[in-house]
Amino acid sequence: MTRSPKATDFTLAVHGGAGTILRSSMTPEREAAYHAGLRRALEAGRRVLADDGAAIDAVTAAVMALEDEPLFNAGRGAVYTSAGKQEMDAAIMDGRDRAAGAVAGICGPRNPILAARAVMEQSGHVFLIGESALEFCRRQGLAFEEPSYFYTDQRWNALQQTLAMRQSGADDQDESRKHGTVGAVARDRAGHLAAATSTGGMTAKAPGRVGDSPVIGAGTWADDETCAVSATGHGEIFIRYAACHEIASRMRHAGQALDTAARAVVMDVLAPVGGSGGLIAVDRNGEFSLPFNSSGMYRGVVTGDGVIRTAIYDEPLAELH
Ligand code: ASP
Repeated sequence: MTRSPKATDFTLAVHGGAGTILRSSMTPEREAAYHAGLRRALEAGRRVLADDGAAIDAVTAAVMALEDEPLFNAGRGAVYTSAGKQEMDAAIMDGRDRAAGAVAGICGPRNPILAARAVMEQSGHVFLIGESALEFCRRQGLAFEEPSYFYTDQRWNALQQTLAMRQSGADDQDESRKHGTVGAVARDRAGHLAAATSTGGMTAKAPGRVGDSPVIGAGTWADDETCAVSATGHGEIFIRYAACHEIASRMRHAGQALDTAARAVVMDVLAPVGGSGGLIAVDRNGEFSLPFNSSGMYRGVVTGDGVIRTAIYDEPLAELH
């Protein structure tokens, strides 16, 4: 999925995860709510980019909006571990200098992406985890919320159903119960790239398990020379195949175009080894690619013309009315 942008255009793409609701369980109201959630995120990022703001600020704003939306598995509405706790992961990367920040296994900061950004800008490190990451966030003065803020019936019930199915040995076909993630990638008018990803991980994951989302090169990547990428899917596989960095490598070393590289990684590298999911990617020319090998991926794009387009299943991006 590409376009031919003007050199001065911006591009912003977002995703709300590859763990989409089965089409048979989707109602028109729910579908409209998902589109509206994606739209709010695109509007937040568009405000930054249309004002000649930086890609890093646009992806931060877009991911914050997605974290605030309980429909998506990140921030408010994050899934539960097998022990009934929420452990969130997030990462951000700036393509200008490959500055990066990440957090894992945290619950408390209202917006985990701001925790990742604070790590990038204030810690002198790239990755902080658990209690020490929370202590760092407190010292940075980030807004915290009580566990009740992050609670949703939908995610709590999904945990109970998943645990029951695990006990009976049943195979869960419902992707929306299993996982989800949010992410944003942007190319600003100055030609710089950035990526941000935030997640609650996978439902009923083992306490302490960390997926691909906060792992730089696996679930999040940005480098002005090649592309910015944010992934969603079966995290263990995405880590093992360095999914996001693999796209940048193909562009850098094999001269592949963004869409060719992104599709090849999702369809030919990840899918055959059980790496269900997808990703969003943008290159330095503002071309974008949104491939997925799952039944759907909540996703949307806005470019310099300002028009917001979103999609959920295997369908073209459409303008919201
Ligand atoms: N990639 C996330 C994880 O493994 C889950 C997802 O995107 O669906 O934690």
